[in-house]
Amino acid sequence: ADQTFDLVVIGAGAAGMMCAATAGQRGRRVLLLDHATKLAEKIRISGGGRCNFTNLKVSADNYLCRNPHFVRSALSRYTPRDFIGLVERHGIRYHERSWGQLFCDDSAQEIIDLLRAECDDGQVSWNTPVTIQAVEATGETAPDAIRFVITTDAGHYSARSLVIATGGLSIPKIGATPFGYRIAEQFGLTVVAPRPALVPLTLPPETLARLAPLAGISFEVQARCGRGEFREAALITHRGLSGPSILQVSSYWQAQAYEDGDWEAVGLNLLPDVDAESWLLSHAGERALLGNLLAEHLPRRFAHAWCELHGWQRPLNSFRHAELRQVAATLADWRLAPSGTQGYAKAEVTLGGVDTQALSSKTMEARKQPGLYFIGEVMDVTGHLGGYNFQWAWASGHAAGEHA
Ligand code: FAD
Repeated sequence: ADQTFDLVVIGAGAAGMMCAATAGQRGRRVLLLDHATKLAEKIRISGGGRCNFTNLKVSADNYLCRNPHFVRSALSRYTPRDFIGLVERHGIRYHERSWGQLFCDDSAQEIIDLLRAECDDGQVSWNTPVTIQAVEATGETAPDAIRFVITTDAGHYSARSLVIATGGLSIPKIGATPFGYRIAEQFGLTVVAPRPALVPLTLPPETLARLAPLAGISFEVQARCGRGEFREAALITHRGLSGPSILQVSSYWQAQAYEDGDWEAVGLNLLPDVDAESWLLSHAGERALLGNLLAEHLPRRFAHAWCELHGWQRPLNSFRHAELRQVAATLADWRLAPSGTQGYAKAEVTLGGVDTQALSSKTMEARKQPGLYFIGEVMDVTGHLGGYNFQWAWASGHAAGEHA
């Protein structure tokens, strides 16, 4: 095969399909390429199989990006309302969970079918599975010239514009590759070093020895790291901590690799609804163990393990007031220094990626290389947990699809 397209999109995931459909419906001749045999696996496994496809409340504050204002333009031009409209037009039933998160009632497959149908509407061509061997610029720069040649095991494709939508590195077993980063480097764009994010944290052996036997126990906390602060459940695992609050702060914990200064621990407020100091002081002098009192607000086994970790397995009447104040301060801000993360195998997303400084925030086009676009998770844009990563895929895909 040797064919010419207005637009070739590499990566038929969330962002790539949105972009292809948008461009196709504008009358562009679009080809989608992907190396996977199964379409959009990440959408299929997302949100526990029900795809948390967006969030009712989306702002730039829900994203980590070296260039924090970059996301504003695309997010304001393709909003959650726009995607909800699409979901409703396709008759997909959905519901809201906490914090404005929207999920399909039935199955994430419905979102894949929606995108597939929108691509069909735009008469998008497909070639999957295909191996992309090389991407070259022809040296032409005019918008209507052939600016790229893509070499695959199924032949060459010529394109006026090329969109890279190959996602991040999380979940390698369903086909994540660093392809997009290599293309960025080939064209002289900077890649912010990728790291796993929205990922369970591991704990050092001393702490883990006490906590691992409690794996499965969860409780609500206010978790904090750097600028990130989240009130949600924490879950004890065999290797450390997980649960939504921990996944959220893990991104900020990882982001410190890029920032100067001290590497901050993760802080957990174990009693976000309680004024711990006056509560403890009001029980000073009682004969009960501290752990038994804490068990009024925390899972009992955890309360006792936590006291053990701190050497506080004593009756309340053995604590001086100053000590109780220290216990209260530790309950309100329990500092944990993770030993690491569970890595890309367990990470929902990838922090870092193609540096947005080199891209137009309106169109996602590389300034240095006219006609080359990067969209979705391959970019240095990482959303919070809660539908924000898909909303970025939709918004950035739409922005490029409207322009390319
Ligand atoms: P992807 O959807 O990952 O698509 C990339 C595509 O590129 C894939 O089809 C892949 O096969 C293809 N590709 C990769 N390398 C190559 C190559 N070398 N050659 C050809 N093709 C290639 N986000 C939410 O907002 N809500 C959720 O509920 C949610 N749940 C998640 C659950 C899990 C378990 C995981 C792992 C992630 C979840 N996410 C969720 C994150 C979300 O899935 C991603 O942020 C989103 O899919 C990114 O879209 P994308 O199009 O950029 O990349």
